[in-house]
Amino acid sequence: MNELPPLVHNLEPIRHRIADAARASGRTADAITLVAVTKYVDAAMARALADAGCLDLGESRPQELWRKAEALAGCPVRWHLIGHLQRNKIARTLPLVSLVHSVDSLRLIEAIETEAAGLTQSAPVLLEVNVSGEAAKHGFSPDELAPLGQRLEQLAHVEVRGLMCMAGRDSAADQARREFEQLRKLRDRLQTLWPDRLKLNELSMGMSGDFEAAIAEGATLVRIGSSLFDP
Ligand SMILES: *Cc1c(COP(=O)(O)O)cnc(C)c1O
Repeated sequence: MNELPPLVHNLEPIRHRIADAARASGRTADAITLVAVTKYVDAAMARALADAGCLDLGESRPQELWRKAEALAGCPVRWHLIGHLQRNKIARTLPLVSLVHSVDSLRLIEAIETEAAGLTQSAPVLLEVNVSGEAAKHGFSPDELAPLGQRLEQLAHVEVRGLMCMAGRDSAADQARREFEQLRKLRDRLQTLWPDRLKLNELSMGMSGDFEAAIAEGATLVRIGSSLFDP
């Protein structure tokens, strides 16, 4: 008999914590998608997650996403790219992913538009925002986004679905929560400023250490890695 991989044991407790956090803020668990981040584990573990019903999987490096997507070909997995996308990797990445969370410049958006047009597919994306202001972080600064609405509306293939952020590396719990609140408020403001056709329904925020705070502030996608795999 094969033993169940340990991560399967952590999946249910994490799902419960997500549901509890949702309930605590008057939301339902199905309003929040768990994106299981598989960057620490191999393709066999990723497959075990999918077999356990966790079908949204995230990778931060495009090459690793390609590798695992190939290894899991035929699994009904939705792949999420959650890390920086270099322009020379767009063409190979787009056909594999259901959502790119980490679009961090207009130049990248324009390049994705061009590739998606060539592939005749749509390209759902989130705009990564550097809410903590750390120099080492990718992402738009919060002030940069307001003027982009007109341009984004014209794109025929890129579909901007919402915003993404990571709390600052050194942010204490209350500080992380304020950063998530800031992202939600930015989304609300852009939704009033930008053309109606741009629907910013998604907020990708919250990781192992802070996903409950993110859910309290309106996260619709939480990206959880280490706590799924901790023994
Ligand atoms: C690694 C990673 C995660 C998951 O982090 P954990 O703390 O391990 O849950 C989430 N988002 C991004 C962008 C990551 O790179």
